[in-house]
Amino acid sequence: MTVSTQVRLARRPEGEPGDDTFSFVEHELDELSEGQLLLRVVYLSLDPYMRGRMSDAPSYAAPVEIGGVMEGGTVCVVEQSRNPEWVPGDMVLSYSGWQTHEISDGRGLRKLDPSVVPVSTAVGVLGMPGFTAYAGLLEIGRPQPGETVVVAAATGPVGSAVGQIARVKGARAVGIAGGAEKRQALLDEFGFNVALDHRSPTFADDLKAAVPDGIDVYFENVGGHVAREVFKRMNLYGRVPLCGLVADYNATAAAEGPDRQPGFMRLILTKSLNIRGFIQSEFTKSHGRDFVRDMSGWVADGSVRYREDVVDGLQSAPSAFRGLLTGRNFGKLLVRVSADPTL
Ligand code: NDP
Repeated sequence: MTVSTQVRLARRPEGEPGDDTFSFVEHELDELSEGQLLLRVVYLSLDPYMRGRMSDAPSYAAPVEIGGVMEGGTVCVVEQSRNPEWVPGDMVLSYSGWQTHEISDGRGLRKLDPSVVPVSTAVGVLGMPGFTAYAGLLEIGRPQPGETVVVAAATGPVGSAVGQIARVKGARAVGIAGGAEKRQALLDEFGFNVALDHRSPTFADDLKAAVPDGIDVYFENVGGHVAREVFKRMNLYGRVPLCGLVADYNATAAAEGPDRQPGFMRLILTKSLNIRGFIQSEFTKSHGRDFVRDMSGWVADGSVRYREDVVDGLQSAPSAFRGLLTGRNFGKLLVRVSADPTL
């Protein structure tokens, strides 16, 4: 008998999801039927979109039901198999959610080859976040050589890939992150041309100095005070892949202050901006294959580097998730739910 420890959604949070948002439940799994396999979760990916799944506000995806297991991408090892396609020890990309074990019928799993790249990259630079950066930047941002690309949350898996792909395409990459250590990593690890700290009191002036020729592409990850400063510096015909607005994910009310919408609309009009929201999955068919080819190559030749922030144990997931929305993570946030057999 295998017991899966599950993190279930206990209530819909108001603002930051506190510990009472979640309940930990020991769930006894059935014996395997013909065609099934038992997965042990090794890595659980924590991603900002999960905040949306906790809410029943209208969105592009259905929320997790109260009492349901929190959703999430996972890297798993096959522990037992009654499915001829899989053998114990196989490493797979799955969507098991916040739990330690899952019974699968094999559908939707992708086999991972640990001899090529670390298996954790399947939920990071070579997985959904890397793909988001690739498709959003190349399809909507379309950076040209010599143009200026700005991205915030720039040490995270999406932002770091955006900046590095922009460099591969010959553009100038300006990265924005929270704090001195992250700012330095943008220069030393990820090769941004300029790095800025959005927590600095001089952020607005630093940004002005960093973009003497204005901004051609703003890859929008955050919204909030960063976006307000960036939009002032957009060039004519600027492009804005609108990927995420993490500064607002825990917001419970509209921001204080004057109504900025008329001014913002005027800016879009007078600068002929192309602002295009997207959910990465819409580009799977059109860009999925190219992504695998290009990103694998760039990771292999060092043009694109990645950083992971690994916390141990499923118990850590709620607090680590809270930290993701406030910048406590430094790189792709992963929970190591159990030992990685490939290390
Ligand atoms: P990250 O690992 O970059 O984590 C989020 C980061 O946001 C934090 O580390 C923090 O970095 C930054 N942040 C938080 N609050 C603020 C704030 N008020 N102002 C500025 N920065 C802030 O996350 P991901 O790389 O996984 O995701 C980045 C964005 O991409 C998110 O908005 C996410 O929702 C979006 N996304 C969208 C997808 C789509 O299909 N549209 C798919 C995947 C992701 P710092 O400390 O540097 O400020």
